[in-house]
Amino acid sequence: MKAGRRVAVASLLLARIAVPAATAEPPADLLLTRGHIFTAEASAPWAEAVAIRGERIVYVGAASGAESFRGPRTEVVDLGGRLVVPGFNDAHIHLMSGALSLERVDLIEDDSLAAVQARIQAFAAQNAGRPWVLGRGWLYGSFPGGMPSREQLDAVVPDRPAYMECYDGHTGWANSKALALAGITRDTKDPANGVIGRDPKTGEPTGVLKEEATALLESRIPVPTGEARYALLLRALSLLGTQGITSVQDAGFAPPELDTDVALLERARAEGRLTVRLRVSVRMAPGDVEGPIKVALQWGARHRDSLLRFGAVKGFVDGVVEAKTAAMLEPYPDGTTGLPNWSSEALTAAVGAADRAGLQVWLHAIGDRGVRMALEAHEAALRANGRSDRRGRIEHIETISPADYPRFRALGVIASMQPLHANPDQNSETVWVPNAGPDRASRGLSWGSLERAGARLVFGSDWPVVTSDVRRGLYCAVTRKTREGRPRGGWLPEQAVSLESALRHYTVDAAYASFEEAQKGSLSPGKLADLAVLSEDLFQGPPEAILRARVVLTVMGGRVVYRAP
Ligand SMILES: [Zn+2]
Repeated sequence: MKAGRRVAVASLLLARIAVPAATAEPPADLLLTRGHIFTAEASAPWAEAVAIRGERIVYVGAASGAESFRGPRTEVVDLGGRLVVPGFNDAHIHLMSGALSLERVDLIEDDSLAAVQARIQAFAAQNAGRPWVLGRGWLYGSFPGGMPSREQLDAVVPDRPAYMECYDGHTGWANSKALALAGITRDTKDPANGVIGRDPKTGEPTGVLKEEATALLESRIPVPTGEARYALLLRALSLLGTQGITSVQDAGFAPPELDTDVALLERARAEGRLTVRLRVSVRMAPGDVEGPIKVALQWGARHRDSLLRFGAVKGFVDGVVEAKTAAMLEPYPDGTTGLPNWSSEALTAAVGAADRAGLQVWLHAIGDRGVRMALEAHEAALRANGRSDRRGRIEHIETISPADYPRFRALGVIASMQPLHANPDQNSETVWVPNAGPDRASRGLSWGSLERAGARLVFGSDWPVVTSDVRRGLYCAVTRKTREGRPRGGWLPEQAVSLESALRHYTVDAAYASFEEAQKGSLSPGKLADLAVLSEDLFQGPPEAILRARVVLTVMGGRVVYRAP
């Protein structure tokens, strides 16, 4: 059908303006010209114009060469020197949690207990009719001692159950009503891989729930379903569009919502409202491996287009540094070493089985021991199954033994990292760094060392753990500073990366991580027309220009999905 239209348009063009036959290209639908275009193509990283026909790019190059693509119906955008980049690809996101977070109180910008309490109190007052007061994004460093208490939440929400998820999603904070509703008392036993925070004297729950213990309470929280859930998904997709994001890779759909959420995505696609390309991994866990492999294969067989894809499973090797649940080779300052969720044998068996089934495997690993276990599991799968292009992934890699840097390249394992997790804010200074201890902290989120060791890095946000705003991630990636500019000189500045590298990790490298680099991720003829136009040229001026820049236009598959007002 498309070819037919193309022919018709071409003959019209010939009739009207008599372009010589040799250059008789059908005109473009969209032409962006007179810009500073970062293509992310190694051979020709810069251009002035991009022409798009249908969903694909048909020309990238000099502005003069683009003129032959201008037709009577071509929409022409004069960029006036603005920067164009390939559409951002957030390589690690939690789309549905992000969508659900849009109707919860967001605490991520509050760095004191008083500020956190004030914001919750105001939200509770504005939402007086809601049976639960829900929020997320609190930072460990906001609380004396690094952990909150139910009394602190009772003080602002005494009348209803309230539950606030930590920014990293690994720890929950409940008030007394919520604990009572979930039946969590001094007699409740800790679940496997989880800890109920308890008063050391009385044994009463403190309101803190770590790792799997969060499920005891979260399972009681009413979640939006049906139309309400769909509306939140659409809000999330449009938010991502405003941020220049045209692709995301989801770090794990899981039952019970998996089927309904895939159905919502299918509906959005059918309605032409899936404005972000999505690749979804399916969660696996110790003792629950065959099921997720089957599901990933089933959905993968059903969805093979460029909008919605499957083909990956994800497992958590360990937890997080802040809660001392990340698995470490050497103890934390308090003598504990964290919790690997898997034995090495079970992890190796699971990774091997998924790999044998032809699936890509993502492994969350934050402690240096977790990272090593993940590398070893990938290596064992490589040895056992011999697949040459498996592109195993390790997510986060917040700490690492120096001996393990070269193994990423040697094994072809992708280092999937989130720049804003290195944001050197108060939380990092008062909780992450002391928990990691000086030696491990000296290699915290070491993108620079991994790059120098030849690892392939991909960048993402981990939204809603932190904002999905790519500008914040880019700024932290190149400066290792907070947006207030602290610390002067940056935290471990040798671990920063260049702007060009950071952009590649958010685009062409991210596309590689989902086996789609031939289709998208850079701007060249034949590729999907996914791009973003920014208000400022990030390559000119100081890094602060990154924070000032706004996305003015987002194009996904040749279609304008966001235009700044
Ligand atoms: Zn994540």
